[in-house]
Amino acid sequence: MHRPEAPAPMMAIRRSRPSCADWLIFQSLPISNRSARLQTHNSSLTLVSQASLAPPTDGEEPMTYDWQAALAFVATLIGLTVVGRFLVFRIPALQQMRELNQAADKGKLARKRFREAVKASNNTGLITNLVFYVTILPLCVSFAPRPLWQHLVEILAVLLIFDFFYYLTHRFLFHGPILRKVHSLHHQAHTPTYIDALYVHPLETFIGLFLFLGSIPLAAAAAGGPLNAFSMAIATLVFTQLNTINHTFVNLPRFPYKTLDRITSIHAAHHVDMNRGNFATLTMGYDWLFGTLEERVDRSTP
Ligand SMILES: [Zn+2]
Ligand SMILES: [Zn+2]
Repeated sequence: MHRPEAPAPMMAIRRSRPSCADWLIFQSLPISNRSARLQTHNSSLTLVSQASLAPPTDGEEPMTYDWQAALAFVATLIGLTVVGRFLVFRIPALQQMRELNQAADKGKLARKRFREAVKASNNTGLITNLVFYVTILPLCVSFAPRPLWQHLVEILAVLLIFDFFYYLTHRFLFHGPILRKVHSLHHQAHTPTYIDALYVHPLETFIGLFLFLGSIPLAAAAAGGPLNAFSMAIATLVFTQLNTINHTFVNLPRFPYKTLDRITSIHAAHHVDMNRGNFATLTMGYDWLFGTLEERVDRSTP
């Protein structure tokens, strides 16, 4: 009587969809063992084809070190920043505001201590970004295509996660007893202009960046795989630009600049002294939610 050969050792419990773990186990097997396998399950024989062990493609991507995606992220971020600045300052009203900020910044930068603080903050930011871009970012981004709504969800998730943790850090650490002294450097600006976005203690620069950059792996972990490199470049662009824009002096209380005017005057209210609200930096949603929203301040001159 013919007796079937003993089945090969079972490799994995069959799932309706292969997981990242399946793929890692599959990769660790010798090539000769990657062909079809017999698997017993509930006293029946199930053929697990090679196709079922193929790399997951439907939203369960493995977290691999994708340096090309990370490079595309950096190139997109720099490209959008340069092109965006070029286009934005073709608008006469915005160029006029820029000149007002530059004139005020020139006076502040004439002080050696101010210049050195800005330089120290910039250097800290550069090093923190570089370390993150080389070590963590390639594990969190990929080129995998996805529908438009998923791009939007990824961008919003990263920005809202960051803004939540930044709100708590700003309110309870920077304005609390622990880091109040560190944060007071930034609060020397009572009527902030562009350069005050960079007039930040290096420790505060590091913490702020750490919170934003940390939101990317956090969102990737929640999504169960890497996020899209281009979506993350846009999220980072929004983060860097809003953080800078909210410190600029803008006096354009008319259409179509009303939102821009409001963003800047809301953060200016936070800078009046260190006892005011408006602790979030991207959206006022958390200040509204937790009752720390302060009214905007109107400024006629920087
Ligand atoms: Zn503050
Ligand atoms: Zn500020």
